[in-house]
Amino acid sequence: MSPPTDIVVIGAGIIGCATAYELARRGVSVQVVDDRPAGMGATQASAGVLAPYIEARDDSPLLELTVRSLDLFDKFVARVSSVSGLPVTYRRTGTLDIATEEDTLTRFEQQRVALSRRGITADVVDAAAVRREEPQLADGVLGGLLIPAHGYVVAGELTRALAAAARRHGAQLIEHGRVKRIAERQGELVVETERGPLAGNGVVIAAGSWSGQIEVSGVTSFNAIVCTVASPDCTVSAPMPSMVPKNILVSFGDIRSATGPRSQSWAMTGDCRARMAA
Ligand SMILES: Cc1cc2nc3c(=O)[nH]c(=O)nc-3n(C[C@H](O)[C@H](O)[C@H](O)COP(=O)(O)OP(=O)(O)OC[C@H]3O[C@@H](n4cnc5c(N)ncnc54)[C@H](O)[C@@H]3O)c2cc1C
Repeated sequence: MSPPTDIVVIGAGIIGCATAYELARRGVSVQVVDDRPAGMGATQASAGVLAPYIEARDDSPLLELTVRSLDLFDKFVARVSSVSGLPVTYRRTGTLDIATEEDTLTRFEQQRVALSRRGITADVVDAAAVRREEPQLADGVLGGLLIPAHGYVVAGELTRALAAAARRHGAQLIEHGRVKRIAERQGELVVETERGPLAGNGVVIAAGSWSGQIEVSGVTSFNAIVCTVASPDCTVSAPMPSMVPKNILVSFGDIRSATGPRSQSWAMTGDCRARMAA
């Protein structure tokens, strides 16, 4: 077995690749291992919508985190694209939340006031203004909430750029290396993969919704293992077509689902819709 790397990252999704890149550019030696090529887990399905003011609840820690993240995005994407030499499609198109019920319009107005207290521009617009933004909407639209700060990124492109940028800083990416177990031998963490063992001083489990399947046995130094957030109910089986909205991201504020009243259903407009219909 080769000498230990500083950090072994399990999973080359957007989280694993971003972790590897940020570590590697700070001089940390990194190996990233995945059983698939980079970005082929949940990341390939992501619409890449960056819309914290709609998707996170007011005053929740998630809102603070995602707002801070969005604030970093311009420089982050520019830097990753420049280091990797790869283009990353990223636009601040804004979002348009649609109301077909009076109650929803009232909620939009409350959201507008709350956002304006934070210094965020948002406009509640009438049906005619909504149609100007998105002429293809069906009848019955009463108005909408426009939030210009929101945007989207093509997550697959960003992930591939992150992987390339991490490599430029010396990180090693190992594909087709399904991880079975993390063990500890003579004080070293050993990541057992189908392509042989990898030794590390620390391990980041970034295997997304599969993270819980990785066995951890005989490990005493748990402070050397970090697990990124995983969504247990997320299963992805097939790649989605690349989704590049041209105009604006449209969401339907009236839609309710089993997961709660704030759930959103996103629609892509412009080029993207044409592609999906094709
Ligand atoms: C349909 C859909 C739409 C979404 N839309 C948005 C959106 O608009 N905006 C947004 O912010 N988020 C969105 N998300 C969420 C977003 O896609 C995820 O939060 C993000 O991609 C998670 O990245 P990850 O790197 O943690 O996980 P993943 O991308 O799943 O990466 C995990 C990696 O670990 C690898 N792996 C797993 N087990 C092992 C193992 N034993 N050994 C080796 N490798 C392993 C997998 O192959 C995979 O590559 C969406 C998700 C879905 C499913």
